[in-house]
Amino acid sequence: MKPHDGLYLDGAWRPASGPAVVDVVNPADEQIIGRVPAATAEDVDTAVRAARAALPGWAVTPPAERAVRLAALRDVLAARKDEIAETVTAELGSPPAFSQAVHAGVPIAVAGSYAELAATYAFEERVGNSLVLHEPAGVVGAITPWNYPLHQIVAKAAPALAAGCTVVLKPAEDTPLVAQLFAEAVHEAGFPAGVFNLVTGLGPVAGQALAGHPDVDLVSFTGSTAVGRRIGATAGGAVKRVALELGGKSANVILPSADLARAVAVGVANVMSNSGQTCSAWTRMLVHSAQYDEAVALAAAAAAKYAERIGPVVSARQRDRVRGYIEKGVAEGARLVAGGPEAPRERGYYVSPTVFADVTPEMAIAQEEIFGPVLSVLRYTDEDDALRIADGTVYGLAGAVWAGDEAEAVAFARRMATGQVDINGGRFNPLAPFGGYKQSGVGRELGAHGLAEYLQTKSLQF
Ligand code: NAD
Repeated sequence: MKPHDGLYLDGAWRPASGPAVVDVVNPADEQIIGRVPAATAEDVDTAVRAARAALPGWAVTPPAERAVRLAALRDVLAARKDEIAETVTAELGSPPAFSQAVHAGVPIAVAGSYAELAATYAFEERVGNSLVLHEPAGVVGAITPWNYPLHQIVAKAAPALAAGCTVVLKPAEDTPLVAQLFAEAVHEAGFPAGVFNLVTGLGPVAGQALAGHPDVDLVSFTGSTAVGRRIGATAGGAVKRVALELGGKSANVILPSADLARAVAVGVANVMSNSGQTCSAWTRMLVHSAQYDEAVALAAAAAAKYAERIGPVVSARQRDRVRGYIEKGVAEGARLVAGGPEAPRERGYYVSPTVFADVTPEMAIAQEEIFGPVLSVLRYTDEDDALRIADGTVYGLAGAVWAGDEAEAVAFARRMATGQVDINGGRFNPLAPFGGYKQSGVGRELGAHGLAEYLQTKSLQF
């Protein structure tokens, strides 16, 4: 798509108030592929005013009509699926097939799920002698990261719009083009002016102005724990609602009765997909000591297969950060069995698919989010030890459990302090609540739970 040189405000593309721009770079070849405006605090204020002005009308639009607009949005996204995939490949670097299936496919499914939920959700309920009204939370400030750029936008905008809220979106600076495409799609779908607004630009300028704007009722943020903590503090100070989807360091627990080869193969694929830039990736593989050497050999062989097909990471900064962690793992005494810190190609921000063995739970590579194609394999002695290691980080976003018997895996999953667990390679479900325990976040996205985040209740007594 052709980049816009304006911001999408109050139903039209309008010039930003200042001259600053953000360059968009293709991480596969390091070429600049576009420029978008860097919004100022003044632009954010214009966007919030537009959203505030549009709120009364949209909030009382019957849910069935909101559903019609969301279904139209889903249809526009579906019609532009190839363009979405090409745009995400260009600005994020993900391989075309993954862009098609996941970066374009998942947001279309999520938009469709909210078209359906808007039409069917019980926005009113009887509780004894009360009528409880589920009303929109108000003006939403949405701040999103670059790793699943359209999915993260749709996972906020679609439920907010379904709830009757109006939205100002500040997407990540590395991936603003698919956000502009989304704004075009909202326009084509016929949403009233001001219901959705887009301000591209920098986190510490536009993002901060949006998070701290007094006329924003709810801030929904996905990104790093460091920034999330600040946004949570700002929102707390203003007594406004906040939803935070933050980092992760998820455990893939392979119990002795599991199909080891399958568990390792799926586990490695999970970490390498999207070049390891998945907040819920199972970056720690936990294996019983009796099976440890076999699992390490399988993981190293599986990772090597990704050397040619893995995409770059998003930016030079991210590449340097990931390589820094690989060097740290070596310095801490972990054993490299695949990949390493060297640049695998001359051009592009590539990192070799990397596997560490002999990782102990206190090492930085076992505790901190690396956000690159790096897997740590840890050993446990018994189930209690496995649980202690699995839960032994500040995070609790996701995880996986493998066992010969599903009930055995479920019993272990029930004990884990984490928001999502895949049992024996269970499939992604766009209707299941997604979000974190502990420092992985506050609140849930997707499905009916994600819709509830954008509602507030009013009780009428009779
Ligand atoms: P980031 O926190 O640097 O940026 C996320 C967004 O916040 C961007 O739009 C950025 O411009 C904005 N931002 C930055 N500083 C800001 C500030 N001071 N005020 C307001 N906004 C600001 O994170 P990132 O590097 O873009 O994304 C990677 C991180 O996101 C990883 O830690 C990853 O785990 C996390 N993540 C979590 C989930 C989840 O659902 N839990 C999903 C995807 C990514």
